[in-house]
Amino acid sequence: MSMERIPVLCIGAIGQSGSTLLARMLGQVPGLVAVGETGRVWDKGLVEDMACGCGEPFRACPFWTAVGEEAFGGWDRVDTAEATRLRDGLTLRGRAPHALALPLILRPSLSRRYGADLRRYQALMGRLYVGIHRASGGRVIVDSMKQPAHVYMVSRMPEVDLRVVHLVRDSRGVAYSKTKWVHRQGARSDEFRVRRPPPKSGEKWIWMNLSFDALAGLGVPTSRLRYEELVRSPKGALLRVLSELGIERRVDDLGFIGEGWVELPTDHLAAGSRMRLEAGRLPLREDDAWRHRLSPTHRRVVTALTWPLLVRYGYRGSP
Ligand SMILES: [Zn+2]
Repeated sequence: MSMERIPVLCIGAIGQSGSTLLARMLGQVPGLVAVGETGRVWDKGLVEDMACGCGEPFRACPFWTAVGEEAFGGWDRVDTAEATRLRDGLTLRGRAPHALALPLILRPSLSRRYGADLRRYQALMGRLYVGIHRASGGRVIVDSMKQPAHVYMVSRMPEVDLRVVHLVRDSRGVAYSKTKWVHRQGARSDEFRVRRPPPKSGEKWIWMNLSFDALAGLGVPTSRLRYEELVRSPKGALLRVLSELGIERRVDDLGFIGEGWVELPTDHLAAGSRMRLEAGRLPLREDDAWRHRLSPTHRRVVTALTWPLLVRYGYRGSP
């Protein structure tokens, strides 16, 4: 058996931070491949047959068909209900707060049941990564399944050589985005994503960012990137982050980025925001609608809740 570890670059972030955009940009860097939110392959991909970034239904996409062959000898061999159950169990969905999963991942002996399911899911994800590794010709896998439990789980897979980009966006921007009505991923046209009150977004923003901050102390190579830096000075931001993660690239490798735009070909993100379906020359500008549209009350509350970390990350914490 080969001892060569599979290179994976996970994006760690709260939702509405620009992770799909970052994943697609990283996927254009030579030697890297962006595949979207891997943990949603089991239900959004295999069951709902949601559109891949290339526009094809998941099961008709040639890239993902190749991944399924390499990983499992065909997707029909995957028990999708079991895989989805394991994925949801990882975050304790419906049972306990997501944050409680992290100590269980680090010390699976704390719960025999959780530990057993964790090992099963790691084995499944390990096969999926092997499939992507082979189907992509051995490139670094950019995984935008950004949840803390997922990233922590991958950090405990010995067959994976993990690096993490901790993507941060201003807490007030995240809070505003979660108040908007947005159609759910792959859902029927009358279904909307769950909205979240700004104070709840503030709380979630704090614990999730702290959990990604803690990864470096656990021995995981980590680089922090602000969404606002990515859209304002994309070339410098990407080169810095990659270099901090031991992936040296040159500015010539970033020819797909221009002044205020990014040129993205069709790629194969299995899940993620709707922007995964857009291709061509796309405007690269900061989404800062929250500055005008987040109510003064909510703005004060979210700022008050999150200011210590806002300051730590280089944002202006004053309301
Ligand atoms: Zn595709």
